[in-house]
Amino acid sequence: MRLNKGLVISAIALASVLTLSACTDSGASPSAAPVAATPTFAPGTTMAKLAEAGKITIGTKFDQPLFGLKGPNGPVGFDVEIGKLIAAKLGIAADKINWVETVSANREPFITNGQVDIVIATYTINDKRKEVVSFAGPYYEAGQDLLVLAGNPNKITGPEDLTGKPVCTVSGSTSEKNIAAYTTNVIATDTYSNCLGPLRSGEVVAVTTDNVILAGLADQNSGEFEVVGKPFTKEPYGIGLKKDDTEFRAFINDTLDASFTDGTWAAAWEATAGKVLDTPTPPTINRY
Ligand code: GLU
Repeated sequence: MRLNKGLVISAIALASVLTLSACTDSGASPSAAPVAATPTFAPGTTMAKLAEAGKITIGTKFDQPLFGLKGPNGPVGFDVEIGKLIAAKLGIAADKINWVETVSANREPFITNGQVDIVIATYTINDKRKEVVSFAGPYYEAGQDLLVLAGNPNKITGPEDLTGKPVCTVSGSTSEKNIAAYTTNVIATDTYSNCLGPLRSGEVVAVTTDNVILAGLADQNSGEFEVVGKPFTKEPYGIGLKKDDTEFRAFINDTLDASFTDGTWAAAWEATAGKVLDTPTPPTINRY
C-alpha cells in the first residue's frame, strides 16, 4: 500500500492542509453532506431521540492532523467528516454537533458514561473493546507503523529492529498492546503529538501507531520525520456506540454503506486525509 503521495508534493499538501484548517470550520462541511429534511425513526430509538433533540455529541481526537485536528471553529479531518455524514442522516446540521475531545484511553468510558453519543476517533474495532461498547463500520482500515527522524538515522526498517530500544506510543491504544511484542522499553503518554518531543530529542527512536496518524504528524512537521511505511497490523476503524444498541448500529452501518457508493465518503476523504494520502477503496461493513 502506497501511503504518501510523495515528498515532492508534501510542501504543497501541507499548505493545503493549513489552508483547510484556516478557512474551514466544522460547521461548513467540505464534503457537503446533505442534511435530511424530515427523517423519521421508530419511536424510542436512539435515532429518534437524537433527531428530536436536534443535536449530537461526538468524541474525536483533537491533535491528529488529517483525521481529527482542533481548528479555530472546531475539529477538522476525515473522522470529523464521517461524523457530519451521520449527523446529516439524523437531520442534524454540522453546526449542531457538539465535538468533545477523546483520547485513546477514555473512549470506552466516555461511551458507557454517556458523555458522548458516539466516538469517531481512529478507533480500532476489536473483540476486547466489543465487550464494553459496540461498533459500526469499519469505514477505513489503517495499519500500525513507525515514525522515525528524517533520514532514519537509527536505520529502523520494522518493529523487529526495536528490541530493547525506547519507543513512544499512547496508553489504551492497540499500538501500545501490539508494540509490547517487540520491545518492553515503551513510553506511553496520552496523545501521539506528545511523542514528537521525545523523538526529536532522541529519548525514543520511534513513535508507533497507525500509519495514517503518523503520516499526518509527518506532514504537519514537514522535513522532520518520516514514516517507515511497512504496516504490521490491521486496524479497522469503527464508530463506537453504547453496547448492544442494535438499531443505532444498523442505522450507522446503513449510513456508512450508502456513503461508500453515493460519493460522500470519497468526498469526505478527498477534502481531508486525501490532501496527503491516496484515496483508498471503502472497506466492507462488518454487521456482526
Ligand atoms: N487505532 C488504534 C486504536 O484505536 C491506534 C490509534 C489510536 O490510539 O487512536 O487504539
